[in-house]
Amino acid sequence: MRLIAALAALVLWTGSLAAAADAPLFDGHIHYSRPDWSVYTPDQIVAILDTAGIGRALVSSTPDDGTLKLYERDPKRIIPILRPYRTRDDMSTWWRDPSTIPYLEQRLAKGVHKGIGEFHIHGKDIHTPVLKRITEIAVQRDLYLHAHSDDAAVIELFAIEPRSKIIWAHAGMSAGPDTVGRLLDRYPTLTVELALRYDVAPGGQLDPAWRNLFLRHPDRLMVGTDTWVTSQWDRLPEIQAGIRAWLRQLPREVAEKLAFKNASRLTAKTP
Ligand SMILES: [Zn+2]
Repeated sequence: MRLIAALAALVLWTGSLAAAADAPLFDGHIHYSRPDWSVYTPDQIVAILDTAGIGRALVSSTPDDGTLKLYERDPKRIIPILRPYRTRDDMSTWWRDPSTIPYLEQRLAKGVHKGIGEFHIHGKDIHTPVLKRITEIAVQRDLYLHAHSDDAAVIELFAIEPRSKIIWAHAGMSAGPDTVGRLLDRYPTLTVELALRYDVAPGGQLDPAWRNLFLRHPDRLMVGTDTWVTSQWDRLPEIQAGIRAWLRQLPREVAEKLAFKNASRLTAKTP
């Protein structure tokens, strides 16, 4: 009898592990930008998201119409984030271009966006009237800033407006778990998204320093992929499988938080 009970417990346990690994992911970093439109229709994008097991996603696009096309197709799954880029050329000027502000205000009037970003800014460039105004708008409208930035820019954004809520794209792309941990300790409204951070699990094996950070701050990080070029859409199921492989190496509650729950909580709080 005891053996049967033990076997039954084992079946339940492995079943719950599998369920955690197979549950839908909340992708913190998706774009559907102009070059993607002629390759994949919104219907085809939704099919790719299904195949990749992505239940919800933060989506920003250049131009924003790409995001709205997906949002109209699947409003439950798509969480729109507003990029300050009307075209790719804006990427190199937006933070010092006064016309960024009326553009953002006009798009935000639609009332569907939950954040401003993903935008690219470095610490040395951050003190401009445009950035200051964006941090004010974000606080007034309870929006996240989705910042692709070095750690210096995150620190400066919080210095400009301490009430900011920041999603740190790619964990700063090159910041290590020590730096990320220090910033999470210092700023309670900072959330970290891990798109393109293959150093989290080199060769598929979860790195011990990242693992310790996930266990220390289980409520503050989220997974993401970043469809920054169209070829990333082709690879999306494969990239998500790689993320699931390292999530399985975490305790189930922590894996579920990084996979889905943290991002769900963030987007539930915003208007
Ligand atoms: Zn991106």
